[in-house]
Amino acid sequence: MAENTLQDWQSRAAALHFRNQAFMGGKFVDSASGKTFDSINPATEEVLTKVAECDSEDINRAVAAARKAFEAGSWSRAAPGERKAVLLKLAELIRANLEEMALLDSLDMGKLVQDAVTVDAPGSAHFFQWYAEAIDKLYDEVAPTDPNNLALVQRVPVGVVGAVVPWNFPLDMATWKSAAALAVGNSVVLKPAEQSPLSALRLAELASEAGLPDGVFNVVPGFGHTAGKALGLHMDVDCLAFTGSTEIGKKFMQYSGESNLKQVWPETGGKSPNLIFADCEDLDTAADMASFGIFFNQGEVCSANSRLYVERSVKDTMLEKLKARADATQPGNPLNPESKMGAIVNETQTQGIMHFVDEGKKSATLITGGERIYLEGKGCFVQPTIFADLEQSNPLARDEIFGPVLSVIAFDTEAEAIEMANDSIYGLAASLWTDNLSRACRVAEELNVGTVSVNTVDALSAQTPFGGMKQSGFGRDLSLHSLEKYTALKTTWIKYKPNRS
Ligand code: NAD
Repeated sequence: MAENTLQDWQSRAAALHFRNQAFMGGKFVDSASGKTFDSINPATEEVLTKVAECDSEDINRAVAAARKAFEAGSWSRAAPGERKAVLLKLAELIRANLEEMALLDSLDMGKLVQDAVTVDAPGSAHFFQWYAEAIDKLYDEVAPTDPNNLALVQRVPVGVVGAVVPWNFPLDMATWKSAAALAVGNSVVLKPAEQSPLSALRLAELASEAGLPDGVFNVVPGFGHTAGKALGLHMDVDCLAFTGSTEIGKKFMQYSGESNLKQVWPETGGKSPNLIFADCEDLDTAADMASFGIFFNQGEVCSANSRLYVERSVKDTMLEKLKARADATQPGNPLNPESKMGAIVNETQTQGIMHFVDEGKKSATLITGGERIYLEGKGCFVQPTIFADLEQSNPLARDEIFGPVLSVIAFDTEAEAIEMANDSIYGLAASLWTDNLSRACRVAEELNVGTVSVNTVDALSAQTPFGGMKQSGFGRDLSLHSLEKYTALKTTWIKYKPNRS
C-alpha cells in the first residue's frame, strides 16, 4: 500500500470519481423521478456529489431485476463452487481498491480514513472471502425416517433479499448482509443509508466486474421513509435484513405484517455495559480498551461500551486513566493519519449528541470533554466526553446516544453490577474485566446480551454470530448462523417403493 500521508489522501480524494446513480439489472441508472440528494462530507460540510434519490418506483424496478435474475438461475442454481469463485474475485477486487473504498466511507460519513483502510475495507474483503470459502463445504441432511423413504432436508435460498443498512460502517454493514445472502444464491436489493451511499454503489460495480450476473445485486440509494419503506412493504421481497435503530426495526416488522409476511431480521440499537472489577490487575489495559470501546468510530458503534460500571475502590483511579485517554483522543481531519477521532456523521446527529451532553451537564459530573468543536470553522466534531456521579435512571445511562459519550457509575457488589448492566431495554453486547475466572464465567452467564467480551471489548469475528437480545433485535450477522436467515428449510420425501400411505 502506498504511503498514507494527509497529502496522499487528499490527492486521492481529489481524483475520486463518485458512482452516484442507482445500480440495478447490472447497470447504473438515474432514479425514475430524476431526483437526487446531496452526499455531504461532515468534516467539511462540502457536497461530494448528487446521488440518485430512489423511491417506490425504483424499488419496483430493482426488485423486478432481482426476481428475474433469481428465476433465471444463473446465480441461484449455480454450483456452490461457481458462486465461490465469483465472491473470491470480488474479495480480491475490494483489496485491489482498498484505498478508494476506505476513502468513500471516510468522506461520506466522517470516519478516520486510517481506520477505514485498516479495519472496514479489509473487513469487507475478508467477509466476502469467508462466505465464499464456506459455501462449498456445507452439507444438507437426510432425515432418519422409517425405511422405504429418503427424506431430504435442504436449505434453499429464500429468493429476493432486501437489505436496509445504517451509516456507521457503510461498507461493512452492506457486506455483512450481502456476502451471506449472495453466497447461498439469493438476489439482493440493498438500500444504503442516505448519509453514506457511496461505497455500496462502488461495491455493486466491483461485484459486477467479479462476474456476478446482472440483477443479482442491486443498490438503491434513497431515504428511509420512501425507498426503505417501499422495500419493507414490497410484495415480492422474501426476506428483509435490517440493521439500524430499534424504532425503525419495529417498523419493518409492521411492514411485513401489512404486506406479504416476509421474514424480517432486525439488528438494532444498543447501550452496552462494560464492567470493571477491582480484581482486574491490568487496569491500564482495561482503561485503554474502555476508551477504545466508546471512542472508536466517534462512538457511532451499535455495540459501543457507553455504560461503564466500575467497582468503587478503583473508580477514582479509572476515572483518572480514562480522562487521560479521552484527552489524547481529540477529533481531527478524518484524512489525517495523525487524527485520533473523526467527524460525526451529520449535523442532526451532532445536535442530538450535544443535547444529551448539555442535559448531562445539569445532572452529572462532567469529567472531560463536553464541547462541540469546529475545524477551520466547519464540520461536525464532538470532543470525547466522560460523565460520572449519575443515577442509573439518567438518560445518559439509558438512551443510545451513538456518539463519543461515556457514563461512569460505581458499584459495590457483583450482584449490583449485574443488575445495573441488565437494566436496559437493549441486550446487544457487554464486556467485563476481572482476573478471577470463576467470576468471569459467573457474570458472563448472567448478562442478557448477544455477545460477552471478557477482558476485552466488542470482540467479533467472521466465525462468531453478532446480534442481540431484547430490543437489540434477534437477527444475527456473521458466522454460518447468518446463512439461516437467507435460506428456507425444504423437505423432499422420496419413497423407494410407492405406496398408498
Ligand atoms: P436508522 O434506523 O435511522 O436507519 C437505518 C436504515 O433504515 C437507513 O438505511 C434508513 O434510511 C432506513 N430507514 C429509516 N427510516 C425508515 C423507515 N421509516 N422505513 C424504512 N426504512 C427506514 O438508523 P441509523 O441512524 O442509520 O443508524 C444508527 C442505528 O443503527 C443505531 O441505533 C445503531 O445501534 C444501529 N446499528 C445496529 C447494529 C447492529 O448490528 N445491531 C449495527 C450498526 C448500527
